[in-house]
Amino acid sequence: MGAVMIECPRSGRHIRTGMNADRKSFETTPVFFARAYCPHCNAEHEWFARDAWICEAPCEEAAA
Ligand SMILES: [Zn+2]
Repeated sequence: MGAVMIECPRSGRHIRTGMNADRKSFETTPVFFARAYCPHCNAEHEWFARDAWICEAPCEEAAA
């Protein structure tokens, strides 16, 4: 399992979506649409599954 990450469209920084998923199952998940809170913009961003990736390593963003 890892944290589902997206890139903030305004700041370009990587943020957590708050979702967790397994990389293999996530790659086979049908395209979906979701929203995630961005602490850099203090706003919610809309994103598609194809724009997201799984951060399985305990990276800084995932730990924040
Ligand atoms: Zn943002």
